[in-house]
Amino acid sequence: MGEVSQQSFKFSGKSLLASLVNMDLSSSSEKVIAEYIWIGGGTMDLRSKARTLSGPVSGPQKLPKWSFDGSSTGQATGEDSEVLLYPQAIFKDPFRRGNNILVMCDTYTPTGEPIPTNKRYNAVKIFNDPNVAAEEPWFGIEQEYTLLQKDIKWPVGWPAGVSPGPQGPYYCGIGADRVFGRDIVDAHYKACLYAGISICGINSEVAPSQWEFQVGPVVGISAADELWVARYILQRVAEIAGVIVSFDPAPIHEDWNGSGAHTNFSTNSMRNDGGYELIKKAIEKLGMRHNEHIAVYGEGNERRLTGRCETANFNTFLWGVGNRGASVRVGRDTEKAGKGYFEDRRPASNMDPYMVTSMIAETTILWKPF
Ligand code: ADP
Ligand code: MN
Ligand code: MN
Ligand code: MN
Repeated sequence: MGEVSQQSFKFSGKSLLASLVNMDLSSSSEKVIAEYIWIGGGTMDLRSKARTLSGPVSGPQKLPKWSFDGSSTGQATGEDSEVLLYPQAIFKDPFRRGNNILVMCDTYTPTGEPIPTNKRYNAVKIFNDPNVAAEEPWFGIEQEYTLLQKDIKWPVGWPAGVSPGPQGPYYCGIGADRVFGRDIVDAHYKACLYAGISICGINSEVAPSQWEFQVGPVVGISAADELWVARYILQRVAEIAGVIVSFDPAPIHEDWNGSGAHTNFSTNSMRNDGGYELIKKAIEKLGMRHNEHIAVYGEGNERRLTGRCETANFNTFLWGVGNRGASVRVGRDTEKAGKGYFEDRRPASNMDPYMVTSMIAETTILWKPF
């Protein structure tokens, strides 16, 4: 007995566990597992729980509403703890596969009022405005993040408490001394494509262990739904790998590039001939409302927007063509074509895309200061 049989038990036990986890439910049951996802009471606070459905579903409106204990997520009191989940968007579940689904939800009181952390509710109102809808607002969001070692909360691949050589070789780099965590990043990339998210690319970033993925272009409210679910999938993949995802805008210190969520934007009018004039008008309006925008562009963003490391200062609004030290950048292609899109570089990695996308649409399409 002893070691040998225990080893073989461990081995067969592990492979049995893996085969059960990977089991194709649909071969023996009509039942479907739906993982309901929502945003909790904190910054970047994603939560989820699963329930069994009697069969496959075609859309979020076919799904039952559900509830959770809001006193455990900082969203309700103990005496009146129930918060309702309304299914809003569904995706294929890359973890359970088959007919199983991920369900992005938003949150309401038992009487049907959106709770204060439900930023989707107001965003939908803006995107449903006929003037906004007619413009088919497209968003492309560049989500930056850093992978951290679980126990010491220090970037993956960095010796404890030690910083590697200065920035330069890591951005879009290759090699074991330059790039850490590629398997996680690639697993996330494919999992998002499987789920039906419009993820359009990935790259390693300026700090080692810092990465970016891009979602877009996606129309209206769906851009934020997809970004939230892409963030959810990333955290689930990292959980399997035993690694933490940091969405902190300045996870290390100021000498290293922080993490942003550049938000690229265009409307029908901007994408058509003469669009560059409208882009310039929209940017002027963004500048007039700089403080209001920056207030919802992410927590701790002032630690990132220092005016160094490819950012403009937190307190100033600056735009330019091809300028990565600007608040808003217009690409050379857009200037040359006289139409296209622009990039708001101010949002931080931990921003709420429901707030950021709807506020950009509101300011540039609905607001009429002149
Ligand atoms: P950067 O050069 O700033 O790193 P990326 O290639 O990382 O740019 O990201 C560009 C983003 O712009 C992508 O998310 C893409 O979907 C988005 N995008 C492209 N065209 C448009 C458009 N017309 N309107 C809005 N977003 C767009
Ligand atoms: Mn990018
Ligand atoms: Mn980037
Ligand atoms: Mn960018």
